[in-house]
Amino acid sequence: MPELPEVETMVRGVRPYMEGRTLSQLRRYPCRRKPLSCKPDFTRIARRVKGRIVREVTRTAKRIVIQFVAPGAEAEQLFEYLVIEPRMTGLLLVDDPPSREHLRFEFVFASAGSKETRPNVSYWDRRGLGTVTLYTQTEFDQFLQSGRLGPDALAIEHAELYEKLQRTSRPIKVALLDQKLVAGIGNLYASEILYLAKIHPETPANRVPRGLMKPLQLAIRDVLETAILYEGSTLGDGTYRNVLNQDGSYQNEHRVYQKGGTLCTGCGRIPIERIVQAQRSTFFCSRCQKKYE
Ligand SMILES: [Zn+2]
Repeated sequence: MPELPEVETMVRGVRPYMEGRTLSQLRRYPCRRKPLSCKPDFTRIARRVKGRIVREVTRTAKRIVIQFVAPGAEAEQLFEYLVIEPRMTGLLLVDDPPSREHLRFEFVFASAGSKETRPNVSYWDRRGLGTVTLYTQTEFDQFLQSGRLGPDALAIEHAELYEKLQRTSRPIKVALLDQKLVAGIGNLYASEILYLAKIHPETPANRVPRGLMKPLQLAIRDVLETAILYEGSTLGDGTYRNVLNQDGSYQNEHRVYQKGGTLCTGCGRIPIERIVQAQRSTFFCSRCQKKYE
């Protein structure tokens, strides 16, 4: 958490407040908590982006990508990319934060005359595990080509998914969390996806029949796109909020996640089970989801 749907919700949420605006300052809040990991250090980042224009805000896997350009410079080598990975508890906000003490920094925009009423954008992080990296164009290209991130979960095709899953005998649930294999899926949505695709989470990835690749790919897309429509999932700890500091609502649509012991709504016959795989909880129905050996 936040996974792809939550990060995509943040990106869509901040876009109207960031794109086309000139950053007058990247201001650090006096936060006494664990400092964020920044590369280069925060002061250098702030110096480099000051006075730049936000050209575009996009998402790569579970990261927010803010593309900056110098005024009047559209040549590609002059782009810089501020990449924020919210990890466990990071949020971008345009409204009051859940708490002031965990505010980390603020994008302060130049006001284009007195008509500008849009608020600034803040980054909030309770646990402070998020990371902030500023890349030049060359560095950003290298990052994308480094193989650290596989194809985006919303874009991967079933043939490619099959080819990727063939390479590993780890359980399918664990393989789906591997960002090098497919980028953007986290623990919560992996359980939901496998339930929808009717595949048992302990099935070795390379044993999932080829004929199930299309249903699996459609399940990935269906679960993630629906979760984006619902603006993500706010779990019991209440940490995840949209940019207006409101709950997401996909948690009300979960079919298996955190539903251990409750009757499966698919078959209506047995309760949802919980197991632990690679130190993470997995939820599934052993009647609805078939295990392939
Ligand atoms: Zn069932």
